[in-house]
Amino acid sequence: MSSEFLFKSAGELASLLAERKISSVELTGAFIARTKAVDGRVKAFNSFDEADALAQARAADARRAAGQARGTLDGLPVGIKDVIAVAGQPLTCSSRMLANFISPYDATVTRRLRDAGAVLWGRLNMDEFAMGSSTENSAFHPTSNPWDLTRVPGGSSGGAAAAVAAGEAPLALGSDTGGSIRQPASFCGLVGLKPTYGLVSRYGLVAFASSLDQIGPFARTVEDAAILLGVIAGHDPLDSTSYPAPVPDYRAELRRRPGPWKLGVPKEYFSKGLDAEVGEAIRAAIEFYRKSGCEIREVSLPLAADYAIAVYYIIATAECSSNLARYDGIRYGHRSAAATDAIDIYFKSRAEGFGPEVKRRIILGTHVLSSGYYDAYYLRAQKVRTLIRNDFMRAFQEVDALLAPVAPTAAFKQGEKVFDPLAMYLSDIYTISINLAGLPGISVPCGFTQGGLPIGLQIIGQPFQEAGLLAIAHAYEQGHDWHTKHPEL
Ligand code: GLN
Repeated sequence: MSSEFLFKSAGELASLLAERKISSVELTGAFIARTKAVDGRVKAFNSFDEADALAQARAADARRAAGQARGTLDGLPVGIKDVIAVAGQPLTCSSRMLANFISPYDATVTRRLRDAGAVLWGRLNMDEFAMGSSTENSAFHPTSNPWDLTRVPGGSSGGAAAAVAAGEAPLALGSDTGGSIRQPASFCGLVGLKPTYGLVSRYGLVAFASSLDQIGPFARTVEDAAILLGVIAGHDPLDSTSYPAPVPDYRAELRRRPGPWKLGVPKEYFSKGLDAEVGEAIRAAIEFYRKSGCEIREVSLPLAADYAIAVYYIIATAECSSNLARYDGIRYGHRSAAATDAIDIYFKSRAEGFGPEVKRRIILGTHVLSSGYYDAYYLRAQKVRTLIRNDFMRAFQEVDALLAPVAPTAAFKQGEKVFDPLAMYLSDIYTISINLAGLPGISVPCGFTQGGLPIGLQIIGQPFQEAGLLAIAHAYEQGHDWHTKHPEL
């Protein structure tokens, strides 16, 4: 009975729940069964708690029976990246450092999901501490791309993307510091949204680079992303960088904003390095908007194109070296059994607990913050960061949003880049400047390569204009059927 529900949109599933055509226990049971059937191959999950999920589902069914259903998400499973705190569940960040850590509290987004009645479903694999673009940096196991199991699902939120793409969850939450929602969404044929910095609370999100990190939704459709964003967005006094922006009904706004729009195409994003098939799909999407009456303008983002990677890998590593100092084997995390004295505990616990990419970044970040180098690297990177933001704000004086690729290629092979950090970093070229500028960005499926791999279109919006951004993405989705396809497993 169950498999027919696995690839329906969350909006459709919510209607079936509301019409009592299906119960949350049946639905949650279907996703549990699917996960048991396919996750041995996909490996999207670090862990899941079947009994807990079914208990949440029973509570949702009881509320509905009593006429007390809480809204669209009530009774719907939502997968959660293993970097977001869920009280009483593991919170590993896919690191040996936190392999045995159980979260004592809920992140704000988790609490909001609970308040909305969602069934919190599983802990999803990722690159260790969200550092990476392929989910191969997980200390536990790599995740496979459901469209081709020999390829990466993207990263760092690869488990979240793969779980939704494989029909193991209808929705998921990830985090995006430099592309970690948008790039896996594009590799797995999903919608993925990185909100404006400050729109979604970071309370209970394990920090990687605090001035860049944002939590956001993975979904099958733009409407589903709008539904999930509406639940998690909004001011939170527990996060000092949370901004008191109004939270409209994003789902309803999709229909209130028919366009046409003025859309910018950054000319630097179509130069060398962009795969031909990906470029073709993005250009076809631009043509679609033009034919639907939008005005398309070429814009220029010279600093974003030339300096984003260098600036990001200075600022992100600097922040991570500071944020990860707390894992010392004393207050948190793995403690080496071989240590003989206090200093030895620090050395050995960190040496054993962190993987190679995390160590590389801590070393890089400590270096750029050290005296004598601080001004030359960190301070200068902060200044260029402002100039990159200025590039975008200048473009937004002319246009409503920007159209761009998400990544230079479709999903690459497992093992292809993991031993070449620079090649891996370069693949972030189109996503990281959006985090540096604090802007919202969405990935929407816009085609497939000849080899059958999904391609994503990135739409970049103005700060706190998620409603408009979602509407632009929705207009594209309405004219295409890419989002209705799913992989055969
Ligand atoms: N790939 C980027 C990095 O490795 C972005 C990661 C992220 O967004 N968490 O830092």
